[in-house]
Amino acid sequence: MKTEYSALMQIAAKPEITFTEGKGSYLYDAKGNRWLDFVQGWAVNTLGHCPEVIARAVCAQSRKLINPSPAFYNDQTVLLANRLTELSGMDQVFFANSGAEANEGAIKLARKWGQKNRNGAWKIITFQNGFHGRTLATMSATGKPAFDDLFNPKVPGFTKVPYGDLDAVTAAIDDRTVAIMLEPIQGEAGIIPATTEFLQGLRALTDKRGLLLMLDEVQTGVGRTGTMFCYQQHGIEPDVVTLGKGLGGGVPIAALMAKSSACCFEYGDQGGTYNGNPLVCAAALAVLEQVSADGFLSRVQAAGKRIVDGLVDLRDQFDLGEIRGAGLLLALETPGFDAPALVKRALESSLLLNAPRPHTLRLMPSLNVSDGEIDLMLEQLGDLLAEARGHSG
Ligand SMILES: *Cc1c(COP(=O)(O)O)cnc(C)c1O
Repeated sequence: MKTEYSALMQIAAKPEITFTEGKGSYLYDAKGNRWLDFVQGWAVNTLGHCPEVIARAVCAQSRKLINPSPAFYNDQTVLLANRLTELSGMDQVFFANSGAEANEGAIKLARKWGQKNRNGAWKIITFQNGFHGRTLATMSATGKPAFDDLFNPKVPGFTKVPYGDLDAVTAAIDDRTVAIMLEPIQGEAGIIPATTEFLQGLRALTDKRGLLLMLDEVQTGVGRTGTMFCYQQHGIEPDVVTLGKGLGGGVPIAALMAKSSACCFEYGDQGGTYNGNPLVCAAALAVLEQVSADGFLSRVQAAGKRIVDGLVDLRDQFDLGEIRGAGLLLALETPGFDAPALVKRALESSLLLNAPRPHTLRLMPSLNVSDGEIDLMLEQLGDLLAEARGHSG
């Protein structure tokens, strides 16, 4: 059997390693090499690799019902929608297969809402360096400069303003504006948290001007930042929230949730063959059961604090920069150190890290990462920094 990488469309530079197994915080290749994983499917594997609860849920569900078609209700999708509305304070849910698809749905919902309630308004204010996905509309909503010249013409109607600048948002509103969409922590930009003041300011502004406030919690949702949803730390409730990544714990499922005042889809507006199928909903129910269990989120906060304390020590030792984030979505600025080179060396020494920026490391372990695994990561990172400093003289 041929196993050439070239049979795959080459869409990103990847190391020449083929992973075959995962368990908890570790990934393995066929030769039995082992990596300590602080990427976890890109903040996806909420409970680590192949957790028993997901394996059991998916196995059992695959023997009962996999897909009756989205034209019919199924028990798992109904249970999951009810659980999510209870946990979030939103009123209704539409399930999707990826974060981009959930955001695409949010954009459509906002346009529909503008047609019905705002005289056909359709423009959405988004933010510089924000990230919302890779469909054409979500790339258009994304504020990543590298996307500017790709796949033009883009979907029109996205006005980008500086993140955190309430005056710029206010100035960007016109009678065609229908919504403001943002991440409560910009993930791909390098873990840039919004302040409570900014989020509350946006809530007050959208209320005053009759606009929708839409939060992209694809990366921050489902316990990642130490609360079930990140907005719960800021004393606000948005009109629309999207989830992805951590929701299925590695199984592809995403969600668009909204308050009833924003739920305006009519028959035929939205759908999808796989949306809300019971197989993936069963996985998400298993994830939510764990994350909402007593003590789970306080444990995420404690693990986050343990990492931050360790990073503070490394910062003092190596003259590093800012430590940012919340819960187990953390970043460390590495001035004087090439972060992608550190990530490459880490990979060679059996540790998986991520560098979203040339001088930024991002950590996104499983939410049930152990203290021992955290300490091991910190020790390895310290060794890598010492080695890199040795090289630069
Ligand atoms: C990853 C991500 C997306 C896109 O999700 P996909 O499942 O890759 O389509 C959208 N928004 C944010 C904030 C993300 O981190």
